[in-house]
Amino acid sequence: MKIPFSPPYINQDVIKEVNSALESGWITTGPKVKLLEELVCKYTLAQNTLCVNSATSGLMLALKWYGIGVGDEVIIPAYTYAATALAVIHVGATPVMVDVEADFNISIKQIEKAITQKTKAIIPVDFAGWPCNYDELLNLLEKKQNIFTPSTENQIKLGRILILSDSAHSIGATYKEQYLGSITDITVFSFHAVKNVTTAEGGAVCLNLPKPFNNQDEYNYLRCFSLNGQTKDAFTKSKAGGWRYDIIYPGLKINMPDILAAIGVAQLPEYFEKTLDTRVNIYEFYHQFFKTKPWAILPPYEDEDKKSSCHLYALRIKGISESTRDTIIEDISKNGVAVNVHFQPLPTLSLFKEMGFNIADYPMAYNNYKCEISLPIYPQLTQEELEYIVSTVANAIESQI
Ligand SMILES: *Cc1c(COP(=O)(O)O)cnc(C)c1O
Repeated sequence: MKIPFSPPYINQDVIKEVNSALESGWITTGPKVKLLEELVCKYTLAQNTLCVNSATSGLMLALKWYGIGVGDEVIIPAYTYAATALAVIHVGATPVMVDVEADFNISIKQIEKAITQKTKAIIPVDFAGWPCNYDELLNLLEKKQNIFTPSTENQIKLGRILILSDSAHSIGATYKEQYLGSITDITVFSFHAVKNVTTAEGGAVCLNLPKPFNNQDEYNYLRCFSLNGQTKDAFTKSKAGGWRYDIIYPGLKINMPDILAAIGVAQLPEYFEKTLDTRVNIYEFYHQFFKTKPWAILPPYEDEDKKSSCHLYALRIKGISESTRDTIIEDISKNGVAVNVHFQPLPTLSLFKEMGFNIADYPMAYNNYKCEISLPIYPQLTQEELEYIVSTVANAIESQI
């Protein structure tokens, strides 16, 4: 049996929707993007949503919106994908990495220690779809309001450190019965090919800024900024007599095309109405199997406040070394099951090592990483495949420990 890690979920509805974009005579940013933005708002209850060409771009856009640049610090977890840090680096600011907890998510205690007068934003990451402790984070930032040093109009308006969630894994997850996207100041989802909902490449920036912000005004600004700072998008300009425009900001060019938005338009309703439940069922199947194994550390999935979007199943094995984990993965792969590791902590990657980050300063990130194996979750997996995955994984582990 050959089982891939995360093939995209493409059905006839997706093909029909993409064809309708192709046949419409309009293929870049236009009505399909608008519709996808409306659907994200409808399902997550975000105030406003802007679609862009990736989550990485969305994070950069949000950092620029908050006037973050050279000399500013942005706190991120050491346990994430590189894009979280690169977005900070691309706007000229300094990423400050902090350690995570045993549930893989950023440690609020470590954030508290890392906050300085230069801290302008925090980018928590909902690992594998498991929401961060958002109320604790907001309470901490309100407590630290006195050391926040605003230097732009938006910073003065918010009056505290910005919460910019990297929710690349967590569309559909809930925190205190609210969908992510409707909780933090700004939430960024990824629609990359391997994520729960995809547009091949893409991202969504959800706005829930508190008063006195008007989220619609901020959406209008961000939309213009994402299209070169041009006053008219190409769709509006394409109408007869619509030739004249102006450039009013030094914008980015990070808009999503309609062809790609069409994939998401077909996927999003089915995800919230059906395939998210399929993911939960797969997660529970893994749980039932691994909870009988004394060597297994089960990933967090549900408690009184949170429900995961079950992006992947982050299995850990008690007490094993990194090299034993690697041998186990080799064995699983030989038997045709594609697994992964989430994540290689940033301080183990060359770029960040050269910047001076040292994994020894992030013991929990290393402990999570060294014994972790991510198992696949996607709606196309059959019962037979799931049974093959758990027996292959368990045999590989039990032959090594
Ligand atoms: C996938 C991912 C991203 C990047 O998403 P893109 O849409 O590819 O830019 C960012 N952060 C995390 C945690 C991710 O897993």
